[in-house]
This record gives sequence, structure tokens and C-alpha cells, in this order.
Amino acid sequence: MDTLTTIDTALLIGSAFEAGQEAREQILNPRTGGLILEVPEASNAQVDRAVAAARKAFEGWSRTTPAERSAALLRIADRIEAEADEFARLEALNCGKPINAARNDELPAIVDCYRFFAGAVRCQTGALAGEYMAGHTSMIRRDPVGVIASIAPWNYPLMMMAWKLGPSIGGGNTVVFKPSEQTPLTALKMARILADELPEGVVSVITGRGHTVGSYLINHPGVDMISLTGDVATGKKMLDAAAKTVKRTHLELGGKAPVLVFDDADVSEVVDGLRAFGYYNAGQDCTAACRIYAGKKVYDRLVADLSSAVSSITLGAEDDTTNEIGPLISLRQRDRVASFVNRARELPHIEVTAGGEVMTDGFYYRPTVVAGARQEDEIVRREVFGPVVSITPFSDVDQAVGWANDSDYGLASSVWTRDVGRAMATAARLRYGCTWINTHFMLVNEMPHGGLKQSGYGKDMSAYALEDYTVVRHVMVKHG
Ligand code: NAD
Repeated sequence: MDTLTTIDTALLIGSAFEAGQEAREQILNPRTGGLILEVPEASNAQVDRAVAAARKAFEGWSRTTPAERSAALLRIADRIEAEADEFARLEALNCGKPINAARNDELPAIVDCYRFFAGAVRCQTGALAGEYMAGHTSMIRRDPVGVIASIAPWNYPLMMMAWKLGPSIGGGNTVVFKPSEQTPLTALKMARILADELPEGVVSVITGRGHTVGSYLINHPGVDMISLTGDVATGKKMLDAAAKTVKRTHLELGGKAPVLVFDDADVSEVVDGLRAFGYYNAGQDCTAACRIYAGKKVYDRLVADLSSAVSSITLGAEDDTTNEIGPLISLRQRDRVASFVNRARELPHIEVTAGGEVMTDGFYYRPTVVAGARQEDEIVRREVFGPVVSITPFSDVDQAVGWANDSDYGLASSVWTRDVGRAMATAARLRYGCTWINTHFMLVNEMPHGGLKQSGYGKDMSAYALEDYTVVRHVMVKHG
């Protein structure tokens, strides 16, 4: 990272850059375990000032035209694009992602997200104005919610920031944004751009741990809405906090995506797909293709071919441009992943057919296949959030759909078959926010992303996100 000359550590509060005043969080390089630097977290007084700045800015920002907000989002997109390489290297450093994933996959999607919302905010549609009561004209408005406490996870820090800021500020809200305490570096760099391109207080960026700064922020009486991407347990804390002053909530929580592979599927395509979509970002992805149900005729071949394909995934190479995946975010996460696999392999019916071990340097865990898993097994039911895929054989479609839906989660799913009718009939029965057919993991900014059940509610991306960050209001005019 020799050419990353400076790394920002200052918080943005209103229009001021200032150092955090509380405990210093160590930011580690997951590839080596070494210290990158320390970032101090915000004090309660700093959070108070960020919320106050957002409340003050709301008066003006909420009354800007869609065209003005669109122009700001376009400027932000241009600035990120101009510094894309630097952002990619900073994200790769902080998260351990391969540079190519950050540079070629994530940065273009992040820039496109701001551009999408710049367009979407200018062409929202709604119900017709009209005389629904004689002598009165009714119309519908869509107005911003207010001040949003926006809280992001560590798996895609800059992208989650885009997913949250695009519709929030596009919709006319103001935001106090808190990145994960483990991955604040790109958000702090973004703060410089946001300070240049937005009026004072429209977005503040504060750092800190969840149970200290995060908790203080979500419980703040000056906040109107909480937006979280994070764990289910954290989502429940948001709901507790929201109940006190009836804040709105937008929750994107975990996932445990089922992948239904029917006997007529093209197995080599399935293997290619799972090799990519089960392990991307080291499996630290809430849509990861991690819970495979395979028809009995394809099961043996799938286990054999996937295990051999997964063993060829490149990670931990000195030349980062050859790496396909990186390490886990932390030692804690790596040990958590390892303990899931170790508990699974103690079961007599389970065979670990690839990986299943930690690597020596950094926070790496080998891409792993757990074959013979049963529906009741922990490895099938709980989110591992690591490079681990389980495979379970099924007998018929009802069993496959039943098992797929038998989950606390409801974010993403996929169906693999050559039979279009079976694909559509199965997709219709799945209780997931998204179902892909013969692919997995593909997201586009025009289409919504979000869950059912304990995966949360509220959509990211798409015009639906703009709806979530705005409120419908009725205005009625009496004639004469
Ligand atoms: P996490 O819930 O531990 O942390 C997420 C954020 O919440 C962090 O910024 C953290 O500081 C903050 N936080 C934690 N406790 C808090 C509290 N009491 N009050 C306020 N803020 C608090 O999650 P993580 O470990 O950073 O991320 C991984 C999780 O996120 C996984 O479960 C994953 O499935 C989920 N995730 C979901 C999506 C989605 O779109 N559904 C996307 C990415 C990640």
C-alpha cells in the first residue's frame, strides 16, 4: 500500500473534520493480522453535534428540488470514479479483499449506485391527484423522513454506504453515518467528498463500536429513522431502540441462501456458479450460495466436482492480482467459521470433502465443502458467513422447497434446472426476497435487494429503496 500516502481518520461532524475523542479502535490488515492504524471513536457529545447538524441541515436539504439532489449525487459519483483506484486499494487493505474484486467489481457498482439514484429521484411516480370528495382536490406527496441513523457492516463497507446514502440523501433526508468499527477507512475518505459536494450537515460520518457509539446514536431522540445492514441480533436492538420514540426502521439482516439443484440441471454450470457465488468475498456475503439441496441423481457428481473445483480457488498468494478471494475480516470471524466446520465434522453423516482448515498467515480459511449435511444440522441452519458450503440430497420438489423455506432467513435463493416450468413453479413457492434461476448473486441497481422473515425488511437499490426512505402524505384542498 506504498502509494496510499495518507489515510483519513477524522470524523465529519457538520462541516468540521475532527478527531474522535474516545477509545482508539485498532484497524487490522486481515491478510497479515498487522496493525494498519488506530481510529478513535466519537464521543457522545460528538454524536449529539452530528445529529444536531443533521436536524439543522434537514430544513434546507428537504426543500431542494430533485434536480438539485440529483446533481449532487452525480458529482459524488464522479468524484468516486476519479479516485476509484485509491478507494479500491483502501477497501482491499482494510477488508483483505483481492484488489481486482474491489477495483473491477465493487467500485463500478458503487459509482453506478449513486448515478442510479440521481436518475431515480427525478422520475418517481405515484397516485393521481383528483376530486375523491366533491369540492376537494386530493394529492399525494412523497416527502423525506428526516434524520437517518445509518449503520453499516464490514463486508462491503463502501458499497453499503452507497446503498444507504443514495436513496437517503436522494430522497431529501439528512444522515449520520456510522461504518463498522472494523472497516471505517473508505467511509472516512468518502467524508472528504461528501463535505465538498453537500451542504453542511447533510451527511456526517462518525466512527465507533456498536455497543457504544452505535447504541447512543440509534437511541438518540433527534433521529427519525434507523437504517441497519448487519446481524439479526443487532437488528433486534434497533427495534428496541426504535420503540422508544417510534422511529422508522430499515433492516437488512443476515441470510442463508438455499440453492436448489434439480436432477436435470447442467452440473458443470452449477459447479462454476457455486465456485464463484458460494465463496465470493470469502463467503462473507448475506446472499452467498451456501446451502445446497441437490437431487439424488446429481448429488454424487456435484459433491465430487464442486470439491475439486473449490480446491483450485486461489487465495493467500503474494501476487494479490491472482487471488480470487481473501481472508476473513478478523481472527474472531475466522475462528467462528472454523468452529462451525469442526462441530459439523464431528457428526457421523458429514464428510468435509474440501478445505476445512485455517491457513497460517492472516485470517484465512480454506474454501470448504461440507457434504451429507442434514436439514437439522447447525451448518444448514445457521449463517456461517465464511467460505463454507453445505450439500444435502433431496428426494422430490416438495421436500426441496420445504427444506429451503424451513429457515429463519429469507433473503436470497436460487433454482437450477433446464425445465422453465419447474423453475417458475419453484420460484413462486420460495419465501425469499430474491430467487435467481440458473445463476445466483447477480445484483443490479434497478432491482430491489432485501429480505423476508428475520433477514429483515426494507429494500436497498431500486426505486423501492427511495420509497422506504420517504413517507407518503396526503394534501387536500377545499375548492372556493
Ligand atoms: P453487526 O450487526 O455486528 O454490525 C453491523 C453494524 O452494526 C456495525 O456498524 C456495528 O458497529 C453496528 N452495531 C452493532 N451493535 C450495535 C448496537 N447495539 N447499536 C448500534 N449499532 C450496533 O454485523 P457485521 O458483523 O458488521 O456484519 C455481518 C452481518 O451483516 C451478517 O449477519 C450479514 O448477514 C449481515 N449483512 C446483511 C446484508 C443484507 O443486505 N441483508 C448485507 C451485508 C451484511
